[in-house]
Amino acid sequence: MIDGGFGEKCGVFAAVGQSSAVSLCHFGLYALQHRGQESAGLAVVQGDSIKTHKVTGLVSELFSHDRVRKLRGEIALGHVRHASRGDDALENAQPLTVKTRFGFISVAHNGNLTNAGVLRRGLEAQGSIFQTTLDTEVIPHLVAASSEKDVHGAFLDALGQVQGAYSLAAVTPQGCWAARDPHGFRPLCLGKTEDGWIVSSETCGLDSVGASFVREILPNEVVWIPKEGDVRTIREGGTEKEAFCVFEFVYFARPDTDIRGLNVHSVRKALGKKLARKAPCVADLVTGVPDSSLSAASGFAEESGIPYEMGLVKNRYIGRTFILPDDESRRFGVKVKLNPLRSLIEGKRVVLVDDSIVRGTTSRYMVGLMRSAGAREVHVRISSPPYRFPCYYGIDATRGKELVASTMNTQEIREIIGADSLSFLDIEDVKQVLGSFPGLCFSCFDGKYPVGPEE
Ligand code: 5GP
Ligand code: MG
Repeated sequence: MIDGGFGEKCGVFAAVGQSSAVSLCHFGLYALQHRGQESAGLAVVQGDSIKTHKVTGLVSELFSHDRVRKLRGEIALGHVRHASRGDDALENAQPLTVKTRFGFISVAHNGNLTNAGVLRRGLEAQGSIFQTTLDTEVIPHLVAASSEKDVHGAFLDALGQVQGAYSLAAVTPQGCWAARDPHGFRPLCLGKTEDGWIVSSETCGLDSVGASFVREILPNEVVWIPKEGDVRTIREGGTEKEAFCVFEFVYFARPDTDIRGLNVHSVRKALGKKLARKAPCVADLVTGVPDSSLSAASGFAEESGIPYEMGLVKNRYIGRTFILPDDESRRFGVKVKLNPLRSLIEGKRVVLVDDSIVRGTTSRYMVGLMRSAGAREVHVRISSPPYRFPCYYGIDATRGKELVASTMNTQEIREIIGADSLSFLDIEDVKQVLGSFPGLCFSCFDGKYPVGPEE
């Protein structure tokens, strides 16, 4: 039914109060493309109305640069979506734009609302008609149903009723809200250009449009950014309950993003160094699985003194959603996405660093690639703890069983992936690296969920 989990990554970007808001938003979405490739959307305020453009596919498929230049507007809101399987229909693309008695509102949301089902059934019983299967859609319905007199009151009323994870931006013809749930599961930050404001899931989005970083939206905080005038906090933020997703540091976020002053690449590199000290091995070269594990691999190499080498060459023109070759294509030796560098690997003892093992499919495939290129030994090092628990109970039950570490220990996983040795970090190691961070959610590693399931 409802998609995602706290672990669902999406990207949110808004530009406010500048004549080039639409093109800035378009550029910003490119910078957040890694957060979702299933659909992209952009909503533009035009007078009292909001026009929404969506596509199932990449930002580059949304519209041409010529078209973007013609789409003038002082407020624009964009979204890239990472959908759970079979749920990538266009009507579920965001931003979600509706017309209420307050006028047009458009919402772009990253996260999963754990009580969306309950709220939705209640609203439907009162006559609400839903257009999508998105959990997000309860928000505009709750705004419309609120007894508050002004739109800010109604928006806060709506957010006060939803639980779970939300980092979102929502626009009206008058301005933009930026909001995070009390746990602050997913990132969201505020930036400034010469003549306006930017809201972005990650700081790399601010960099992409030349905006300066102002600050992060705090957990629980709701900020109002009017088209003209001062930005103001309309719901106070705090960090007492903070449970920021540790997987943002492990995998989701881009390496050039900073979170709470911690650079994601530097954190990954420190995790790699930690791994080299914890699980050293005798080898001739270290290599990473492009692109997400390269930071950790460089840390492993630096700490161990084993040279870093480009053991795998990645085809840049294949998206992140590429499916590994099936058994038949594998028989023909299909290596479309990654090709191992035989001259480097042949006869060598290789340390293969990856950021995570989820189903184990990637690691098994990568070890196979190394062997096919003549590696003498393949030692797999994972720069995060075993991923043992589904991010949220609401994901269909089979997802839990897909997690290879939920039923197997390290030795059994080593056999499955065909490695000569295998090591992970443990939760304590990650905590030490992220020591200065106020509050983190480790539920995928330890099963301790900050917010309970819906039912
Ligand atoms: P596995 O193949 O074990 O299921 O997934 C692990 C690999 O997928 C790792 O190389 C990691 O970089 C990547 N990965 C981890 N989490 C995600 C995710 O949520 N989505 C996608 N597309 N890849 C992921
Ligand atoms: Mg990877």
